[in-house]
Amino acid sequence: MIPMVDLKQQYQILKAEMEQQLQQVFDATQFILGPNVSAFEKEAAAYLKVKHALSCASGTDALHLALRAAGIKAGDEVITSTFTFIATAEAICYVGATPVFVDIDPRSFNLDPELVAQAITPRTRAIIPVHLFGQPANMPALVGLAKKHNLIIVEDCAQSFGADINTTMTGNFGVAGCHSFFPSKNLGCYGDGGMVTTQDDAMAEAMRVLRNHGSQQRYHHDVIGYNSRLDEIQAAILRVKLRHIETYNRERRRVAQRYSALLAGSVITPHEDGIGTHVYHQYTILTPKREAVMQKLSANKIATAIYYPIPLHRQKVFFADYADISLPVSEKVASECLSLPIYPELTDAQIATIVATIKSAL
Ligand SMILES: *Cc1c(COP(=O)(O)O)cnc(C)c1O
Repeated sequence: MIPMVDLKQQYQILKAEMEQQLQQVFDATQFILGPNVSAFEKEAAAYLKVKHALSCASGTDALHLALRAAGIKAGDEVITSTFTFIATAEAICYVGATPVFVDIDPRSFNLDPELVAQAITPRTRAIIPVHLFGQPANMPALVGLAKKHNLIIVEDCAQSFGADINTTMTGNFGVAGCHSFFPSKNLGCYGDGGMVTTQDDAMAEAMRVLRNHGSQQRYHHDVIGYNSRLDEIQAAILRVKLRHIETYNRERRRVAQRYSALLAGSVITPHEDGIGTHVYHQYTILTPKREAVMQKLSANKIATAIYYPIPLHRQKVFFADYADISLPVSEKVASECLSLPIYPELTDAQIATIVATIKSAL
């Protein structure tokens, strides 16, 4: 059996260290906003080379907090990719704004800046680029557009922890970077968790207040906030894993390079567009024979997943506004994409088995 991610193996390696850290949390019995949370925020900020890192309850909340702190509200339009996880759009809706879905570049699967430019209207306030599958979006072009039209950029870094463009980490190009620590992400905890990063002192302060019931001083509430905090247990786990993130991402790149070398010519392999470093949260191929490949792999106990089968403009919840609008690149990609198992511990022998199985299905 080869799963999409194998968290068991990683846990076995980290077990002793994890248990020691967790025991300390249990002994201290301080579970919310304690010393591990502050230490993790400092360590993550240092790693990402950003001034402020504020942990919260999930990546979805990170996006929500960032948009709210940036003042995005009802009547505003926020441009984002149609080829992403629903959370990116949910956050836009939570603040009452309208998501405007834009098509992707057919090779990188990230927002196409030219199409973003065409989608800008007088009501556009923000752009949310998603660094999909771990590859940085075209930030130079998007930052240029944002400057020209006076727009805010909030980056969805849920899949790109550790990815950079010329040594600038994703999350540092916009007013905020939104990270997810969902267990299967490149840096994952053992439950839900998230974080917003920013260089902006006012944004950081606003988000710090919002994540903790709109409160700066206990039982004094200036705005309606949320209960969105990372807990000490998750922070302790993340501190252990953060020390290994460079290795994890390097190993993911090894797996991807191996796959691409073996699969070249058989399917369309992921394209590195050279804008930044791809950290391969997912390894996603394109093939018109997706069904056959999936079935063959499944029969051989090899997991696959389709990220994503339906672009957001074709989801029931948004369909009414997009019934007459086609975003053809995403629609085509959604019909042919297939994500293969990828995790740092995946061996070259396992990769060879997966590739041989794929080839036998084609
Ligand atoms: C995982 C993910 C999120 C949401 O993160 P959660 O921590 O699960 O709330 C948002 N955007 C993208 C692109 C994701 O992959």
